[in-house]
Amino acid sequence: MARAIVRNSMSSNTPEATNWHDELSRAIRDPRTLVERLGLDRSLLGAARESAELFGVMVPESFLARMRHGDPNDPLLKQVLPIADEQQPATGTTDAVGDLDARRAPGLIHKYDGRALLIATGSCAVHCRYCFRRHYPYGDEPRRLDEWDDAISELAADSSIDEVILSGGDPLMLTDTRLDQLFERLESIPHLARLRIHTRLPVVLPSRVTETLCLRLREGRLTPIVVVHANHPSEVVDDCADALERLVASGLTVLNQAVLLAGINDDADTLAELCTRLANLGVVPYYLHQLDRVEGTVHFEVPESRGRQLVGELESRLPGYAVPRYVREVPGATGKVRL
Ligand SMILES: *Cc1c(COP(=O)(O)O)cnc(C)c1O
Ligand code: SF4
Repeated sequence: MARAIVRNSMSSNTPEATNWHDELSRAIRDPRTLVERLGLDRSLLGAARESAELFGVMVPESFLARMRHGDPNDPLLKQVLPIADEQQPATGTTDAVGDLDARRAPGLIHKYDGRALLIATGSCAVHCRYCFRRHYPYGDEPRRLDEWDDAISELAADSSIDEVILSGGDPLMLTDTRLDQLFERLESIPHLARLRIHTRLPVVLPSRVTETLCLRLREGRLTPIVVVHANHPSEVVDDCADALERLVASGLTVLNQAVLLAGINDDADTLAELCTRLANLGVVPYYLHQLDRVEGTVHFEVPESRGRQLVGELESRLPGYAVPRYVREVPGATGKVRL
């Protein structure tokens, strides 16, 4: 009965669906609007336009609303404003984490025991300048439902896999109808037990966290785990904090992963505040990632020695469950490597 009700409200035309689709269509997509809306110096524009050629600008209104007006050093702005450093000659690669070697079928990456990752879509609601997937060949991955057939067959044929991770891009960019279709196909594979969703939308487009979505996740056959992505305490306020509360109140396990980013969160006070805010909302700080070195992102890198020192400080200040594991991805490793 509950499932039937959920199914009927899955149409993309419900008011709650209209809200997030509208907000997404109104997201800022050019450097000039971003600079003007925040009252920033227009001298930032030249470099921003050049670097936006490499990876476009995308910033939802909700995320913009949490930035300080007139401050070029705002930690949220720095995550999304293209700058000249992105054009530095390459010391990084385009596939730092070995994803392309672990591609088992279109859209399916299987690197670690028991867990396989589906690239559910290439699109995101925000373009993070440090993103390690900025060079991923998303154009080669499935778009239509039938293009998932190979990935689903691979999953069904490998009973060692009990967890599927929906990743991307951002899987919650899919409409409820498309998500439901994908969930159903996964639910029909008997050896799957858990469904994990790696998403930044609750942070950058909190209106995506609808009652319909929470209900569908809770009522499905697979145990849901939602892993969100916030890097700075100023992200975890207002409508984002409300969205995280909705997820937690729905009975979902909610974890956070952050990336250690130079000039944004590479100090102990900022990280401690981030972890405390998350813990207060019932969200567990799961991973603090060492930046994956890909072209155009190297200026965000923090030395590992500094990262270790910071996590050491968190350990002395916070409850154990509020300290994220400091990890990096190493091609060929059997899991994330602890630092
Ligand atoms: C990070 C990652 C996972 C998940 O690793 P956990 O340690 O379980 O969070 C799974 N598959 C791939 C390809 C990954 O990059
Ligand atoms: S939301 Fe995630 S996948 Fe998308 S650009 Fe940001 S870091 Fe990359």
